[in-house]
Amino acid sequence: MSTVVNVEEKLFQNRYKVDHGRPHIQIKQPEICANECQSQACTYICPAACYKAEGNGTVTLITDGCLECGSCRVICTEHTNVAWEYPRGGHGILFKFG
Ligand code: SF4
Ligand code: SF4
Repeated sequence: MSTVVNVEEKLFQNRYKVDHGRPHIQIKQPEICANECQSQACTYICPAACYKAEGNGTVTLITDGCLECGSCRVICTEHTNVAWEYPRGGHGILFKFG
């Protein structure tokens, strides 16, 4: 018999290996996020909530748990302020249901 699970529960089933000190995604110029980006769309498009809008207008990025979907790179087309690459081999997300 199958049971119904929500997205958060499914994401919790994934495993993530952190590459300490070597984030595979970086915000190129944080000052652009704070001063020029009206939408800060990355802060609500990311399914893993890696981007966070801080109260002072800045945006912080913590790539732990990144699903490697690429949405943040796509959504930041106006400012092209996201430097994105896949994690090094052996690091990053391990999908169990993906
Ligand atoms: S969408 Fe791009 S420029 Fe805007 S806050 Fe996010 S990373 Fe910064
Ligand atoms: S690649 Fe996807 S999951 Fe990873 S930080 Fe960007 S939007 Fe979030």
